[in-house]
Amino acid sequence: MKRLLRELIGAETTAEKGELAAADIISAELGLSGIACRIDSWGQNRANLIAQIKSAGHRGGLLFACHLDVVAPGEANWKYPPFSGVESEGKIYGRGSADMKGGIAAAVTAIRQIVDSGAKLKGDIILFAAAGEETDSCGAKRFISDWSGIPQLAGVVLPEPTDFEVVTAHRGMLWLKVTTKGKSAHGSTPELGVNAIASMKTFLNELDNYKIRVEPHKLLGGCSMSVNTIAGGKEINVVPDECSIRIDIRTLPGQNCQEIISDFEKIFAKLKQKNSQFKAEVSIIREVGALETDSSCGFVKDICSAVGSTETRAVGFTTDGPHLAALGAPVVIFGPGKPEVCHKPNEYIDIADVEKAVEYYKNIILKFLV
Ligand SMILES: [Zn+2]
Repeated sequence: MKRLLRELIGAETTAEKGELAAADIISAELGLSGIACRIDSWGQNRANLIAQIKSAGHRGGLLFACHLDVVAPGEANWKYPPFSGVESEGKIYGRGSADMKGGIAAAVTAIRQIVDSGAKLKGDIILFAAAGEETDSCGAKRFISDWSGIPQLAGVVLPEPTDFEVVTAHRGMLWLKVTTKGKSAHGSTPELGVNAIASMKTFLNELDNYKIRVEPHKLLGGCSMSVNTIAGGKEINVVPDECSIRIDIRTLPGQNCQEIISDFEKIFAKLKQKNSQFKAEVSIIREVGALETDSSCGFVKDICSAVGSTETRAVGFTTDGPHLAALGAPVVIFGPGKPEVCHKPNEYIDIADVEKAVEYYKNIILKFLV
């Protein structure tokens, strides 16, 4: 298991390098137990991996849904090189160790051990490892669109790092880009142009007074909005003809994202009425729904009892869960690793936690499928 985890970290599955190398490693690992899998590969190095352990039984299957990709290690200095998978004092360090190669290594190992034990399964185990979860969910979307041949599911488990909390809810994400358009002119004659940065200023002023209309959620709190990038202008002596901002909005279950976009368009119309030269547009960069699985459903209760947990929780990060919820089965997030070390330098996972996760995943499989 440790070897597998270190190999997966070494596969360096950033957006730049793609997921294919990690898919090949998992394929070889599953092959040691005679488990066949399919690598769905596209572009130069993008890949999803799907393995289905077929049973003779008629119970709903169990889907373990992971992601192969990791975020870039960033500019900061790491204690150990980020893709070397160094082991020190009971931890394995590296980008992706917690998010979520520890979870993948545990799920793959648990599945192998169940298969090696010769247990008679009453339902199928499906392992799905996705591309692009950290960027645009391209892997999950591709998987969902080609879902034929996969059986009815009892539920979906995401082995993401929750530090062994059973997680049933998270907010969604709506990333918007607003661009104001102007007209460039020489910096010495600004009256001949339309300054796109000045237009953006008027929009940002309006945004200060804008509130998204949605009631807070009992587990997830409110919907948040933050303007996190701004870019405009090229030269100090040229009136800028374009300025853009990117806005990170975290949405609640059932929220209508189109309403926010039409609110923005209403603000544009109002500003245009005040100044006919005002011109702006809004576009969606990324949209992922919120996740809300009914904590009182049988699947969640059985997961809790299989892992010895008495309550479910919500988390701050987002996952591919909402895409997978489209399959119609309950989705639970449960895995090894501390959420607070993810996406940061010196990310690590405790080896004991990965070992514990193997036992938990085996318990879950035994509970549902044996
Ligand atoms: Zn993750």
